[in-house]
Amino acid sequence: MAINSRANRNPICVVLCERDETALEAALQQLGNTPGFIEIRLDYLPAHQITLARLAKWIKLAPNPVILTFRRKVNGGEYEGTEAEQIGILKSILNCGAAYFDLEVETVENFLKGSLESLKTGQSRWIVSYHDFQKTPADLNSVFSRLWASNPDVVKVATKACRFADNFRLLDLMDHPRPAHTGLILVAMGELGEYSRIIGPSRGSFLTYASPEKGRESAPGQLTAKDLAEVYRIDQIQPDTKVYGVIGFPIRHSLSPHLHNACFQYFGMNARYLPLAVPDLSDLSTRLKWFTGLSVTIPHKVSILKYTDFQDETVRATGAANTLVIRKDRVEAYNTDLAGVFGALRKPLDEGIGRVTLLGTGGAARAAAVVLRQFHCQVNVLARDLEKARVFANEFGFSFDRLSEASNFEGDLLINATSVGMSPQEGETPVPQEAIRYRYVFDMVYNPLETRLLREAKGRATAISGLEMFLGQAARQFLLWTGQEPPLEVMREAALAKLRRK
Ligand code: NAP
Repeated sequence: MAINSRANRNPICVVLCERDETALEAALQQLGNTPGFIEIRLDYLPAHQITLARLAKWIKLAPNPVILTFRRKVNGGEYEGTEAEQIGILKSILNCGAAYFDLEVETVENFLKGSLESLKTGQSRWIVSYHDFQKTPADLNSVFSRLWASNPDVVKVATKACRFADNFRLLDLMDHPRPAHTGLILVAMGELGEYSRIIGPSRGSFLTYASPEKGRESAPGQLTAKDLAEVYRIDQIQPDTKVYGVIGFPIRHSLSPHLHNACFQYFGMNARYLPLAVPDLSDLSTRLKWFTGLSVTIPHKVSILKYTDFQDETVRATGAANTLVIRKDRVEAYNTDLAGVFGALRKPLDEGIGRVTLLGTGGAARAAAVVLRQFHCQVNVLARDLEKARVFANEFGFSFDRLSEASNFEGDLLINATSVGMSPQEGETPVPQEAIRYRYVFDMVYNPLETRLLREAKGRATAISGLEMFLGQAARQFLLWTGQEPPLEVMREAALAKLRRK
């Protein structure tokens, strides 16, 4: 199999960082039939356990081709020995049957005088790797040239993404000329680099590293093998796969990739939806056209508007967008939170509810306000900041008061549009239980599924979960992007599965 061929292979490489041979053997057995590669980090093991006989046994146990990495502490690994000791141990296991050895460029340059030839005695291939855990260096071209000097089979560049644009800078190395029949592994580390980990193989990266499960990552930003395989189906992402995503920061815990990817899979669409951790919008603005559609979340719902060419009435009414439809000739902005609010409140609105108490004056409260005004509801806005409540209420023609006065109000519907009660502050609630004197209580917070507010509303009111709004806004996004009504039950199941996993 040629190194740069993607035929018949899965690019997921599960990394095992076990502290002793018993744990490693157990981990190898637990892998079952996981496709792709397995990297065994020898530097995590006691040095005396790294013997030819043991390695041969582990490689037999492994269901997939094995990459052996024995990285020194000074270069980001765990091995405390000198370069001479490192190479001595590596030489003793060269014929163990590993598919690849990974050696850091520093040892190759310092100890091996820049040549891998003395190690190329077995059948294994050689990866020469460069790591920078602090940044993605400005001059990546020099790093790239330096790595090829020792004539490796594969070059790996793993650097910390400090900006979202570092993903693009790294992946652009794929277009640089390199020796024939060689491979390239490009990894942007950290939360901002998740894009490179998911999209890299479809752009030609030889593999992508994954943790065997959450909490067992060998590097920051690593996704689990299960998510790469089942949520992103990365072995089937092709250069022509349409890419969607959610931009915001932080974004790691977003449910959206789970919902939208489940729908793409349901329809057999060649499309994927990615989490895009973008603190600074200017990093993405020149590459917006690479995407087919984007969700937009905190903190970019307003600032994104300057990059759009068309804004529909939902954006004009709320002053914010949560959805971009990216066409060849223009970028369109929509706000599907209105559809989300409307979907969640359909029953009370159909019943003709009149008196509503709305908590909060942020973006979600604005979406609710637009819908409530449309239905001529009599709304009282409560906020911890009286001035914010006054400005908001005046804009929509509502009345207002302090949040601390909540016990003085009652009505048909109470809406929590503050972030109070959201995970991890699950013990908090925006109003005391005795203030729940409404027929309906709608909590926009959906994580946790049952907030303290909804729990305390039991027996007093009909509870409406924020998940209903979340599904409603996602469904409208999917329709805008694809022209298809999404299967709501598929979306709901994907969201519930993710929330339960948390
Ligand atoms: P936002 O624009 O940041 O607004 C947050 C609001 O919460 C502000 O009014 C803020 O008041 C208030 N707030 C924050 N902490 C508070 C506290 N300790 N006590 C009282 N008020 C507090 O955020 P957003 O986009 O409107 O989102 C608000 C909530 O709705 C979030 O939990 C979000 O996850 C949820 N949401 C859900 C959906 C859905 O689909 N279900 C969609 C959008 C949002 P100050 O202005 O005084 O800080």
